[in-house]
Order: sequence, then structure tokens, then C-alpha cells
Amino acid sequence: DVQKHFLQGFVMGADVSRAVRSLPIVSGGGAHDRSGAMPGFGVGGTALDAPPSRPDRVHREAQDRVLASGKALCKEEQAKREKDPFSLWDEMRANATSDSFPRGTDVFLYKFSGLFHVAPAQDSFMCRLRIPGGVVPSWQFRGIADLADRHGGGFADVTTRANLQLREIGPRDGIHVLTGLADLGVINRGAGGDNVRNITSSPTSGIDPVELVETLPLAKELHHHILNHPELHGLPRKFNIAFDGGGKVASLEDTNDVGFLAVRVDERPDSPPSGVYLRLALGGITGHEEFARPTGVLLLPEECVPVASAIIRVFIKNGDRTDRKKARLKYLLDDWGFDRFLSEVESELGSRLRRAPLGCCSIPPPADRWGHVGFHRQKQDGRSYVGVVLPAGRMTTGQMRGLAEVAERFGSGTIRLTVWQNLLISDIAEADHPEVKAAIQAIGLDWDASAPRAGLVACTGNAGCRYAAADTKGHAMALARYLEDGVTLDQPINIHLTGCHHSCAQHYIGDIGLEATKVEVGEEMVEGYHLCIGGGWGEERGIGRRLLDSVPFDDLPPIVERLLRHYLEHRSHPGESFAC
Ligand code: SF4
Repeated sequence: DVQKHFLQGFVMGADVSRAVRSLPIVSGGGAHDRSGAMPGFGVGGTALDAPPSRPDRVHREAQDRVLASGKALCKEEQAKREKDPFSLWDEMRANATSDSFPRGTDVFLYKFSGLFHVAPAQDSFMCRLRIPGGVVPSWQFRGIADLADRHGGGFADVTTRANLQLREIGPRDGIHVLTGLADLGVINRGAGGDNVRNITSSPTSGIDPVELVETLPLAKELHHHILNHPELHGLPRKFNIAFDGGGKVASLEDTNDVGFLAVRVDERPDSPPSGVYLRLALGGITGHEEFARPTGVLLLPEECVPVASAIIRVFIKNGDRTDRKKARLKYLLDDWGFDRFLSEVESELGSRLRRAPLGCCSIPPPADRWGHVGFHRQKQDGRSYVGVVLPAGRMTTGQMRGLAEVAERFGSGTIRLTVWQNLLISDIAEADHPEVKAAIQAIGLDWDASAPRAGLVACTGNAGCRYAAADTKGHAMALARYLEDGVTLDQPINIHLTGCHHSCAQHYIGDIGLEATKVEVGEEMVEGYHLCIGGGWGEERGIGRRLLDSVPFDDLPPIVERLLRHYLEHRSHPGESFAC
């Protein structure tokens, strides 16, 4: 109902603030009652009651404050001040008819609509979608495949935000991809640039036998909340939010600016009433070697969206707009500390946040590291989901149509993308497993994977990203093939290959993390990597430590093999973590 309400509001152009207020979020008033609700929280007197603001008003006020303090805006803020990134339609039309790509700061502004001109890696657009929670109905999946055929390179990539990207889009085609997505009901406004990026949740939400809470409805609700509050697009920098319901497949919520993790609270004198809450963590940005840290705030599921909205508003007003390198939430938190930040969030909300000692929460057991690959029972009797392995996240449009057909014939027509760059097809009857296996293999994909392949994550690399120093996806597949022949592992090993320090593939959290670099060999510069080990996430979180610098890729596979052999010989017990 919540989703329907939001969707209706969006489609009909209704006053969604009013729609939100009419939702049964939390009963306000009174002391801290047995429901665990915070007094006066969520409905009356919140940020949602704020008068509607134009998308550019809030940014402009934040920018004005910077200028009034005598500082200069960074060039991206200046570009946003001069031109509203969401008002480029006429220019996009004109560019498309004259076969031109954007120039100058327009390259940055186009990203707000999801179009990235990726020259010099390729003189083409990449289009990033928005798929809250990563769940795509099969008919939409087919439609996206059609767009990739008609206007792109005939393939799509699953990203580390459980999202899709289309590539090799020509200058005339970008606008057709945008309108085609809108026709399909894929709203990718704010998919790039200084916006809240695709909201992720647990990919097994609603089907997971061990999850504590369904997080997909929360991701969808927040997605529509943001789309219907244009002032929430005025961020100083990009912003990541994730929900993890404590199920079989991790959503890596602690690598996000804002992470909500389901926890169980058993009543004790200093804790809120027993039950399941979402624990709020802030400030994750693994490219800067930082995980989100728990704040001590516990939320009921229905409280998460208003709190996320208030957090974004505090960031919009106070984030750094002078230096892009310092413009992420982490730096505001470093500057202020949690106490001041949370008190500003409370001012936005108009109510106090529920705090509790960290020790009162039971953290869910670690996710199953094989949970995103192969067949797994659902909580629905007699039904399973299958995790399909994609080579470094890439699939052809033919494979996309084949997957849509598997989902329709054997499942409920639902495809669930994961942050592990693969996808799940749910609601399969046990009797159909053999046919599903055969159908997946018939389209050239796998439902099973070796240990190195199951945990392989690679960013776009130099085939489509201007920052990349190496062919990360190609190298990932070559490395997996080499390791499969050379070493037998009895547990998944995460190997993350990232093309530059931006770390889109989160190399710092891999058991083995590889960051691309150019390496001098004789008189030549060749593609190579810095090698880190010991990363992890969740309760085994760790930032990988640099072990080797500047190894040419050709030398790397035997080194990784030796490392894995050494680990197998010296680990204290099977499954011992690499995290240090
Ligand atoms: Fe591009 Fe660097 Fe991100 Fe890879 S990590 S996709 S090279 S920005």
C-alpha cells in the first residue's frame, strides 16, 4: 500500500508530502511507549511539513552561505549555480540532433540525468539506471535489453549498487535511452552527479528464511520520497544509502554514507522495548578507507525514511561545497562528531532520536558467502531462488531475454540484482530445478561457480571509464580462469578489481583487493595492480592492507595463487577470515 500510495502520488503529480503524512508512520505523543515509538516522531512537525521548495533554492542558500563566508565554491558547485542540471532537456535535444556530446561542465551536469560521456575511454555515453532494491520485473528487463540493442552496445552491466548500466550509447541515442526508460517506468532522475544514488536493500528481502525485516519496501519508499522532493537533489556530493535486513546475502550497508542494519534488541534496563530495529550507521566511504560507524540510534522500520530525509537535509545545508575531496558526509562527521550531527538531524525532524547502548543489540549472523550463487530455499514453502553468475557483472541482451524467460516460466517474473554484480531469480518450485539449470546454461551463464568466481567483483575498467588504468573486467575473468586451474578452495574468496583510487569495486573490502595502476616494464608502461589483502565487511570488517605495489598483470595470477595456497596451508581453521 505504501508503494502504491507513493507511485500514485508520483504519477498523478499529487502532493506526496501530504500522502506521506497520511501514512500510518508512527503514533506520536506520550512517553516512550511499548511500541518503541519516539514521542512526536515522524508525523507532525517534521521536515516533511516544510513548505515546498524549488530544487535550486536549497542549494543556492547553501552556496550563498559559503560565498558570504568569503570562500570560493568549487567548480562543480559553480556549474550547478549557473545552470540547473535538471533543466537541460532542450540542450540535450539540440545536441542529439547535431550529433554532439556535451562539452565542458555540461559533461558533469548531464550525469544528473544518468548520462555519462565516458571519453576518452570511449566516445560514447554510459547510462546509469535507478532500480531501488535492485528488483526488476521481467517485462522491464526485456525492455531494457531492447534499449541496449537499439541504442547501446547490446549488453548491460550489473553494478555494485545492484543497478544496471547501459554502454556504448551514441550522441543521438542518449536522449532516446532516457525517454525509453521513462516509457518503461524506470525513473533515473538523479542517477549520477551530486545525488542520492540507487538505494540498495537485501536482495532476498521478502523471501529470506533468516532475515529479521523486509528491506525492499523501505528502499522503494525512500526512492520515491527522494524523487518527489526535488530539494533533496541538491547535495554537495554523491550519497549512498543501503538497508540490510540481516538475511543470507549482504547488501554491504556499512560501506554506505548511511547504512541501516536490522538488529534484535532484548529488553534490559538501558534498552528500548525488545524487538527488531534498524541500527543507524553513518559515514561509510571505503574508497577513503572508512566504514560507516554505528551511531547508537535505533529505528523502527517505518521511521527510517523520515530520518534518512532529515540526514540528507542536514548534509545539503552543511556539507563542504568548496573542496570536492572533502565533500562527502564522512568529512562533515569528522568535523562535527556524531553528537552535533545527530542533534542537527533531530532539529530537522522536530523530535528526538531513540538512542541505546551498542551492547543491547544482537547483530544477525554473518551473511552466507555463497548465498548469492546457486539454489537456496526461500521462506515460502517449496520455493527456492537461484543466484545466476555473470562474468564480471556483464550480460548480453540475448542473455537478458533468456533470464526474463526463466523468471517468467519458472519463477514469479522477478529478477533481483545484487551488489555482488550478479542476479537472483526467485520463487522456483523444487521440481523445476533441473530445467532451470539447463535453461541458464543454454544461454551461456552459470548457476554454480568456483570459489574465486563467486566472489569476483570488477569495476568498468578502461573499456568504458576514463579513470581506469587497466582492463579490470578482462583481468578479473583471466584471473578466475587461472585460479580455477591452479588451486582448490573450500570457501568463497572475494577478489575485487578496481580501475583507480575511486574504488567503485571496493577493493579495500576484498579478501584480495587489486587497484589498477600503470607499471613501468623496461621502456614500456603496462597495466598492473597494487595488491591489498585482509579486507572484509560486516562483523568481519577490515580495510585491506597494501602488500605489493605495482605488479604487472601478467605476473599477478601466479602471485595470487601462491598467496591462496599459503593461506590454505596456514589458516587456523576452515573459513578463517582474511580480515586483519
Ligand atoms: Fe572508473 Fe575508477 Fe570507478 Fe573503475 S573505480 S569505474 S576506473 S572511476
